[in-house]
Amino acid sequence: MSLLRLFLFVLITPVSGLVAYGENAPPAQTNPKPTPSLKVESGITFDWIHVDGPYIALTFDDGPSSKLTPKLLDLLAAHHIKATFFLIGENAAQYPDIVAREAKEGHEVANHSWSHPNFNKMSDDGVRAQLRKTDDAIKSAIGTSPTLLRPPYGNVTAHQKKWINQEFGYKIVLWDVDPLDWRRPGPSVVCNRIVKNTRAGSIVLAHDIHPGTIDAMPCVLKELEAKGFKFVTVSELIAMQTPLPPKPSPTPKSSPAPKASLSPKASVSPKAVPVKSISPSPTPQN
Ligand SMILES: [Zn+2]
Repeated sequence: MSLLRLFLFVLITPVSGLVAYGENAPPAQTNPKPTPSLKVESGITFDWIHVDGPYIALTFDDGPSSKLTPKLLDLLAAHHIKATFFLIGENAAQYPDIVAREAKEGHEVANHSWSHPNFNKMSDDGVRAQLRKTDDAIKSAIGTSPTLLRPPYGNVTAHQKKWINQEFGYKIVLWDVDPLDWRRPGPSVVCNRIVKNTRAGSIVLAHDIHPGTIDAMPCVLKELEAKGFKFVTVSELIAMQTPLPPKPSPTPKSSPAPKASLSPKASVSPKAVPVKSISPSPTPQN
Protein backbone atom coordinates (compact mmCIF):
# COMPACT_ATOMS: atom_id res chain seq x y z
CA MET A 1 0.00 0.00 0.00
CA SER A 2 1.55 3.22 -1.08
CA LEU A 3 -0.27 5.13 1.62
CA LEU A 4 1.24 2.94 4.28
CA ARG A 5 4.67 3.35 2.77
CA LEU A 6 4.24 7.08 2.67
CA PHE A 7 3.19 6.99 6.28
CA LEU A 8 6.26 4.98 7.27
CA PHE A 9 8.48 7.20 5.19
CA VAL A 10 7.21 10.30 6.89
CA LEU A 11 7.59 8.65 10.26
CA ILE A 12 11.19 7.70 9.80
CA THR A 13 12.43 10.67 7.84
CA PRO A 14 14.54 12.89 10.05
CA VAL A 15 13.92 16.59 9.63
CA SER A 16 17.02 18.13 11.13
CA GLY A 17 15.82 17.66 14.64
CA LEU A 18 12.31 18.88 13.96
CA VAL A 19 9.25 16.80 13.55
CA ALA A 20 7.74 17.08 10.11
CA TYR A 21 4.30 18.41 10.68
CA GLY A 22 1.77 19.28 8.07
CA GLU A 23 -1.47 20.97 8.68
CA ASN A 24 -3.79 18.42 7.29
CA ALA A 25 -3.77 15.04 5.74
CA PRO A 26 -6.17 15.13 2.84
CA PRO A 27 -7.19 11.99 0.99
CA ALA A 28 -4.49 10.47 -1.14
CA GLN A 29 -4.60 12.93 -3.96
CA THR A 30 -1.74 14.36 -5.86
CA ASN A 31 -3.39 17.56 -6.89
CA PRO A 32 -4.24 19.79 -3.99
CA LYS A 33 -7.62 21.37 -4.26
CA PRO A 34 -7.99 24.71 -2.62
CA THR A 35 -10.00 24.19 0.50
CA PRO A 36 -13.35 25.77 -0.16
CA SER A 37 -14.00 28.85 1.81
CA LEU A 38 -15.93 27.73 4.83
CA LYS A 39 -17.06 31.20 5.84
CA VAL A 40 -16.78 29.90 9.32
CA GLU A 41 -17.71 31.70 12.51
CA SER A 42 -17.56 35.16 11.05
CA GLY A 43 -14.99 37.27 12.79
CA ILE A 44 -13.24 34.34 14.47
CA THR A 45 -12.11 31.86 11.83
CA PHE A 46 -10.53 32.68 8.50
CA ASP A 47 -9.36 30.52 5.61
CA TRP A 48 -9.67 33.07 2.80
CA ILE A 49 -10.46 36.73 2.92
CA HIS A 50 -12.64 38.64 0.50
CA VAL A 51 -10.60 41.72 -0.37
CA ASP A 52 -10.63 44.41 -3.01
CA GLY A 53 -7.22 44.07 -4.55
CA PRO A 54 -4.58 41.46 -5.29
CA TYR A 55 -3.60 40.89 -1.68
CA ILE A 56 -2.49 37.54 -0.30
CA ALA A 57 -0.81 36.19 2.83
CA LEU A 58 2.00 33.66 2.82
CA THR A 59 2.16 31.62 6.01
CA PHE A 60 4.91 29.36 7.27
CA ASP A 61 4.24 26.82 10.00
CA ASP A 62 6.11 24.66 12.48
CA GLY A 63 9.33 26.66 12.79
CA PRO A 64 11.50 28.32 13.50
CA SER A 65 14.17 26.06 12.06
CA SER A 66 17.68 27.20 12.91
CA LYS A 67 18.91 26.30 9.45
CA LEU A 68 16.02 27.05 7.10
CA THR A 69 14.15 29.98 8.62
CA PRO A 70 17.06 32.45 8.37
CA LYS A 71 17.47 31.48 4.73
CA LEU A 72 13.78 32.16 4.12
CA LEU A 73 13.99 35.48 5.96
CA ASP A 74 16.87 36.55 3.72
CA LEU A 75 14.80 35.76 0.65
CA LEU A 76 11.67 37.53 1.92
CA ALA A 77 13.77 40.59 2.79
CA ALA A 78 15.26 40.66 -0.69
CA HIS A 79 11.72 40.76 -2.12
CA HIS A 80 10.40 43.19 0.53
CA ILE A 81 7.72 40.66 1.33
CA LYS A 82 6.02 40.28 4.71
CA ALA A 83 4.82 36.85 5.76
CA THR A 84 3.22 35.25 8.80
CA PHE A 85 4.94 32.59 10.89
CA PHE A 86 2.89 30.16 12.95
CA LEU A 87 5.38 28.96 15.51
CA ILE A 88 5.71 25.80 17.51
CA GLY A 89 6.31 26.98 21.08
CA GLU A 90 9.07 24.45 21.67
CA ASN A 91 10.97 25.82 18.69
CA ALA A 92 10.25 29.44 19.57
CA ALA A 93 11.66 28.85 23.06
CA GLN A 94 14.74 27.25 21.56
CA TYR A 95 15.39 29.96 18.97
CA PRO A 96 14.10 33.23 20.41
CA ASP A 97 16.62 35.19 18.36
CA ILE A 98 15.06 33.94 15.12
CA VAL A 99 11.59 34.79 16.41
CA ALA A 100 12.84 38.28 17.27
CA ARG A 101 14.29 38.63 13.79
CA GLU A 102 10.98 37.62 12.20
CA ALA A 103 9.14 40.32 14.13
CA LYS A 104 11.84 42.93 13.62
CA GLU A 105 11.72 42.46 9.87
CA GLY A 106 7.99 43.13 9.80
CA HIS A 107 6.62 39.61 9.71
CA GLU A 108 3.74 38.49 11.87
CA VAL A 109 4.46 35.90 14.52
CA ALA A 110 1.62 33.70 15.70
CA ASN A 111 0.73 30.70 17.84
CA HIS A 112 0.72 27.16 16.47
CA SER A 113 0.69 25.31 19.83
CA TRP A 114 3.58 24.17 21.97
CA SER A 115 4.15 20.67 20.61
CA HIS A 116 1.72 20.24 17.71
CA PRO A 117 -0.93 17.98 19.24
CA ASN A 118 -4.38 17.34 17.82
CA PHE A 119 -6.64 19.71 19.76
CA ASN A 120 -9.72 17.69 18.86
CA LYS A 121 -8.60 14.98 21.22
CA MET A 122 -7.58 17.16 24.12
CA SER A 123 -9.15 18.58 27.25
CA ASP A 124 -9.67 22.31 27.48
CA ASP A 125 -6.95 22.48 30.11
CA GLY A 126 -4.54 20.61 27.86
CA VAL A 127 -5.20 23.00 24.99
CA ARG A 128 -4.98 25.96 27.33
CA ALA A 129 -1.50 24.89 28.50
CA GLN A 130 -0.33 24.46 24.89
CA LEU A 131 -1.49 27.95 24.01
CA ARG A 132 -0.29 29.64 27.17
CA LYS A 133 3.24 28.28 27.03
CA THR A 134 3.60 29.26 23.38
CA ASP A 135 2.11 32.70 23.98
CA ASP A 136 4.66 33.17 26.78
CA ALA A 137 7.57 32.02 24.62
CA ILE A 138 6.59 34.43 21.84
CA LYS A 139 6.01 37.27 24.25
CA SER A 140 9.40 36.78 25.83
CA ALA A 141 11.03 36.79 22.38
CA ILE A 142 9.28 39.81 20.84
CA GLY A 143 7.67 41.64 23.75
CA THR A 144 4.08 41.21 22.67
CA SER A 145 1.58 38.39 22.55
CA PRO A 146 0.41 37.01 19.21
CA THR A 147 -3.18 37.57 18.10
CA LEU A 148 -3.57 34.61 15.75
CA LEU A 149 -3.73 30.86 16.24
CA ARG A 150 -3.44 28.13 13.68
CA PRO A 151 -4.45 24.87 15.34
CA PRO A 152 -2.19 21.95 14.37
CA TYR A 153 -3.64 20.07 11.36
CA GLY A 154 -6.36 22.71 11.28
CA ASN A 155 -8.15 20.67 13.91
CA VAL A 156 -10.18 22.53 16.49
CA THR A 157 -13.72 22.11 17.75
CA ALA A 158 -16.36 24.81 17.62
CA HIS A 159 -16.38 24.87 21.41
CA GLN A 160 -12.60 25.32 21.54
CA LYS A 161 -12.67 28.10 18.97
CA LYS A 162 -15.14 29.99 21.06
CA TRP A 163 -13.37 29.86 24.39
CA ILE A 164 -9.92 30.30 22.83
CA ASN A 165 -11.15 33.46 21.13
CA GLN A 166 -12.71 34.73 24.34
CA GLU A 167 -9.82 33.81 26.60
CA PHE A 168 -6.80 34.56 24.42
CA GLY A 169 -8.35 36.98 21.93
CA TYR A 170 -6.98 34.86 19.10
CA LYS A 171 -8.48 34.69 15.66
CA ILE A 172 -8.32 31.18 14.23
CA VAL A 173 -6.48 31.08 10.90
CA LEU A 174 -6.72 28.19 8.47
CA TRP A 175 -5.82 28.41 4.75
CA ASP A 176 -7.21 28.00 1.25
CA VAL A 177 -4.03 27.07 -0.62
CA ASP A 178 -2.21 23.93 0.46
CA PRO A 179 0.68 22.67 -1.68
CA LEU A 180 1.10 19.61 0.56
CA ASP A 181 4.74 20.58 0.91
CA TRP A 182 5.13 18.36 3.98
CA ARG A 183 5.00 15.40 1.63
CA ARG A 184 8.13 16.81 0.03
CA PRO A 185 7.04 16.56 -3.60
CA GLY A 186 9.97 18.68 -4.81
CA PRO A 187 10.36 22.44 -5.18
CA SER A 188 8.88 22.76 -8.66
CA VAL A 189 5.71 20.89 -7.65
CA VAL A 190 5.34 23.03 -4.54
CA CYS A 191 5.79 26.16 -6.64
CA ASN A 192 3.32 25.08 -9.31
CA ARG A 193 0.64 24.15 -6.80
CA ILE A 194 0.89 27.46 -4.99
CA VAL A 195 1.00 29.60 -8.12
CA LYS A 196 -1.89 27.73 -9.72
CA ASN A 197 -4.25 27.96 -6.76
CA THR A 198 -3.53 31.36 -5.26
CA ARG A 199 -6.17 34.05 -5.80
CA ALA A 200 -6.83 37.43 -4.28
CA GLY A 201 -7.40 37.03 -0.55
CA SER A 202 -5.66 33.66 -0.34
CA ILE A 203 -3.97 32.40 2.77
CA VAL A 204 -1.18 30.13 1.53
CA LEU A 205 0.03 27.32 3.77
CA ALA A 206 3.68 26.24 3.74
CA HIS A 207 6.26 25.01 6.24
CA ASP A 208 9.67 26.50 6.88
CA ILE A 209 11.05 23.20 8.15
CA HIS A 210 11.29 21.46 4.78
CA PRO A 211 14.28 22.24 2.55
CA GLY A 212 12.19 21.72 -0.59
CA THR A 213 9.72 24.36 0.55
CA ILE A 214 12.46 26.91 1.01
CA ASP A 215 13.93 25.93 -2.36
CA ALA A 216 10.50 26.47 -3.93
CA MET A 217 10.19 30.02 -2.64
CA PRO A 218 12.30 31.88 -5.22
CA CYS A 219 9.97 30.46 -7.88
CA VAL A 220 6.84 31.12 -5.79
CA LEU A 221 7.72 34.73 -5.06
CA LYS A 222 8.78 35.46 -8.61
CA GLU A 223 5.68 33.90 -10.17
CA LEU A 224 3.22 35.45 -7.75
CA GLU A 225 4.85 38.84 -8.16
CA ALA A 226 4.61 38.44 -11.93
CA LYS A 227 0.87 37.83 -11.52
CA GLY A 228 0.59 41.10 -9.64
CA PHE A 229 -0.06 39.78 -6.15
CA LYS A 230 0.84 41.92 -3.14
CA PHE A 231 1.98 40.23 0.03
CA VAL A 232 0.66 41.20 3.45
CA THR A 233 0.51 39.56 6.86
CA VAL A 234 -2.59 37.63 7.85
CA SER A 235 -3.72 40.35 10.27
CA GLU A 236 -3.32 42.95 7.54
CA LEU A 237 -5.31 40.77 5.15
CA ILE A 238 -8.10 40.33 7.70
CA ALA A 239 -8.16 44.09 8.24
CA MET A 240 -8.76 44.54 4.50
CA GLN A 241 -11.81 42.29 4.48
CA THR A 242 -14.74 43.60 2.47
CA PRO A 243 -18.26 42.14 2.38
CA LEU A 244 -18.92 39.38 -0.12
CA PRO A 245 -21.16 40.55 -2.95
CA PRO A 246 -24.47 38.73 -3.32
CA LYS A 247 -23.99 35.51 -5.23
CA PRO A 248 -25.25 35.36 -8.81
CA SER A 249 -27.57 32.34 -8.63
CA PRO A 250 -25.27 29.49 -7.67
CA THR A 251 -25.45 26.33 -9.74
CA PRO A 252 -25.81 23.59 -7.18
CA LYS A 253 -24.65 20.91 -9.60
CA SER A 254 -22.24 18.68 -7.81
CA SER A 255 -20.60 17.63 -11.04
CA PRO A 256 -17.23 19.32 -11.14
CA ALA A 257 -17.07 22.22 -13.50
CA PRO A 258 -14.44 21.47 -16.10
CA LYS A 259 -11.18 23.06 -15.13
CA ALA A 260 -12.90 25.33 -12.69
CA SER A 261 -12.71 22.69 -9.98
CA LEU A 262 -9.10 23.54 -9.50
CA SER A 263 -9.51 27.17 -10.27
CA PRO A 264 -9.48 29.29 -7.17
CA LYS A 265 -12.69 30.97 -8.23
CA ALA A 266 -14.50 27.68 -7.93
CA SER A 267 -14.22 27.83 -4.21
CA VAL A 268 -16.25 30.98 -3.95
CA SER A 269 -19.28 28.80 -3.49
CA PRO A 270 -18.75 27.41 -0.06
CA LYS A 271 -18.84 23.68 0.28
CA ALA A 272 -18.70 22.62 3.86
CA VAL A 273 -15.69 20.38 3.88
CA PRO A 274 -14.12 20.85 7.26
CA VAL A 275 -10.40 20.32 7.13
CA LYS A 276 -10.56 17.86 9.94
CA SER A 277 -12.97 15.57 8.17
CA ILE A 278 -10.66 14.82 5.28
CA SER A 279 -8.07 13.09 7.33
CA PRO A 280 -7.73 9.58 5.94
CA SER A 281 -6.53 8.06 9.14
CA PRO A 282 -6.86 8.98 12.78
CA THR A 283 -3.10 9.26 12.98
CA PRO A 284 -1.90 12.42 11.33
CA GLN A 285 0.54 11.57 8.61
CA ASN A 286 2.53 14.69 8.97
ZN1 LIG B 1 1.88 22.55 11.82
